[in-house]
Amino acid sequence: MAALSQARLSLEDVFENLRLAGIRQLGQVERAYLEQNGHVSVIQYECLQDAPRGLPIVPPWDLQCPPTVTDTQATADQPLACLGCGYVSVQPCASCPRCGHAAWTWACQNPLRNSHELTFHV
Ligand SMILES: [Zn+2]
Repeated sequence: MAALSQARLSLEDVFENLRLAGIRQLGQVERAYLEQNGHVSVIQYECLQDAPRGLPIVPPWDLQCPPTVTDTQATADQPLACLGCGYVSVQPCASCPRCGHAAWTWACQNPLRNSHELTFHV
């Protein structure tokens, strides 16, 4: 997050770059590099089904933000993703151990095809 501030990129700027690379959720990203020209290069897991669950970034949050869930809803087989930084937790947490943010959403593998709460209607 500090690198983003130094690069003067907002989270939404980064998400936009990731969407342009075909990323649907942050778990798909194996590596990402901020290039000197300001673009983000992405190395992703070859198969979406092999990617760990992560913070959904589709649809763009200005169209529809992921639903906020309370920490008490976290389970081992349904991890939560921090809405502040994308950290994924498999245990209930009041606040994110990475960024301190206290808002969570469901971590998902494919936000456009999940059958639970993250089914979006655009
Ligand atoms: Zn966080």
